[in-house]
Amino acid sequence: MITRDMTLTCDVLVVGAGPGGSSAAGAAAEAGAHTIMIEKKSRIGVPVQCGEGIGAYLIPFLPFPIPPEQLIWTLNEIAFWADGVTTARSGKLWTTHLLNRAAFDAWLARRAEEKGAQVLRDAELIELTIKTGYTVTSATVKTPEGVREIAPRVLIAADGVDATVLRLLGFKPDKQTTCGKVLSYEMANLQLRNPHSFQVFLGDFAPGVYAYILPRSRTTANVGVGTIVPERKLRECYDTFMDLPPVSAQVSTGTIVQDKSGWAPIRSFTEQWVYDNVLLVGDAANQNFKPFVEGIIPTIIGGDLAGKTAADFIHGLGSLAAYPARVQATIGSLYAESDRLIPLLYELSTSRDPRDHVLRLCLFANIISLKQFEHLRRADTDYATITTIVERWNRSTFRQPVADLIERLGFLYLRLKRR
Ligand SMILES: Cc1cc2nc3c(=O)[nH]c(=O)nc-3n(C[C@H](O)[C@H](O)[C@H](O)COP(=O)(O)OP(=O)(O)OC[C@H]3O[C@@H](n4cnc5c(N)ncnc54)[C@H](O)[C@@H]3O)c2cc1C
Repeated sequence: MITRDMTLTCDVLVVGAGPGGSSAAGAAAEAGAHTIMIEKKSRIGVPVQCGEGIGAYLIPFLPFPIPPEQLIWTLNEIAFWADGVTTARSGKLWTTHLLNRAAFDAWLARRAEEKGAQVLRDAELIELTIKTGYTVTSATVKTPEGVREIAPRVLIAADGVDATVLRLLGFKPDKQTTCGKVLSYEMANLQLRNPHSFQVFLGDFAPGVYAYILPRSRTTANVGVGTIVPERKLRECYDTFMDLPPVSAQVSTGTIVQDKSGWAPIRSFTEQWVYDNVLLVGDAANQNFKPFVEGIIPTIIGGDLAGKTAADFIHGLGSLAAYPARVQATIGSLYAESDRLIPLLYELSTSRDPRDHVLRLCLFANIISLKQFEHLRRADTDYATITTIVERWNRSTFRQPVADLIERLGFLYLRLKRR
């Protein structure tokens, strides 16, 4: 609707057309709210800043199905490497599907349009008019045709790690202290050890987080390294990683096709997901699961619930304050597990002790629990004992099936609880 002073009005304004924004816009529009989504880029989804992997274990939690053609490649194991010590986990819960994020984000935005949302590309939020507290009454948007005002009743901030909305609300989101910096390239002509294996590497070269090879086909992969230590030079970390014998054996023939680097949230920018009539979604709200910092599916879930909550509010059916509880009821236990890892990631980020790297391998592969991890560290367990834990696990014929069964039952419980 255009008012006399040429201000567009709407029920819900979504800022950012990543997975969070498009899911929010789709859900709000589908529920009958007049919804506008603005995206500063002219082409949604480009440039890609992602490893493009989604864990199959999260797919049952999605609010709508992803068409099979969006899943371009499947990895049926996660192989872990730390200081030459290796293990692998396979099965449904450890399966990863690869997306083409450019195509995926474009599909999600089209889906939102089909649900009735109006999508404005090349439209950048540059200013907010705030009444009292954090209540946004109008958004100033820069478009190729000029600057225009949009007056929403609810604003959904799905603008990623740059967090423009938070900034305009007066917060000071600092990527250096809250996010991991990831250098990631799509590479071609690789000689992959196993093109259906997601390879995770732990060591000094990826302080606090990890390095990865995420195959997208037999010979191509996203190859990346992350750090949460601002002082560490990421390029040096990347070069050290590329020189590791198990890595260089696969990448030495490779060529870089595309830069997909970016920032991934580890700590939250702010304490809350709701500020008066503003809901935060996706990276702006730190909606991802550690230790792998998987953001795509949690962001879609968060976006969808934010959109539904906003529409309920518009129709007088509920309060915006209900949004965090709705996320909590859907995937809250996964966030609880994930949040427990955050202090640990920072604590270990400056450790150069190989024992810590192998212990992290045990934890990431779910060979040991967080409690066992903390106990082994407190007890100053020697390197040989830690590597023996991995060797015993690798050799055992019963530990892995038992762990698989327990993990499956855990997820089944979570899904049933959600219903
Ligand atoms: C290198 C890297 C690898 C990753 N790998 C994985 C992975 O393998 N699997 C996984 O699940 N997650 C991964 N992630 C995380 C995942 O990419 C994010 O969690 C996810 O993209 C978050 O979605 P979002 O919608 O919140 O934000 P984004 O996808 O960042 O979308 C935000 C959108 O808002 C737009 N925007 C910003 N400011 C404005 C403004 N002022 N006005 C209008 N529009 C604006 C941006 O242009 C952008 O399109 C990775 C992240 C990085 C950096």
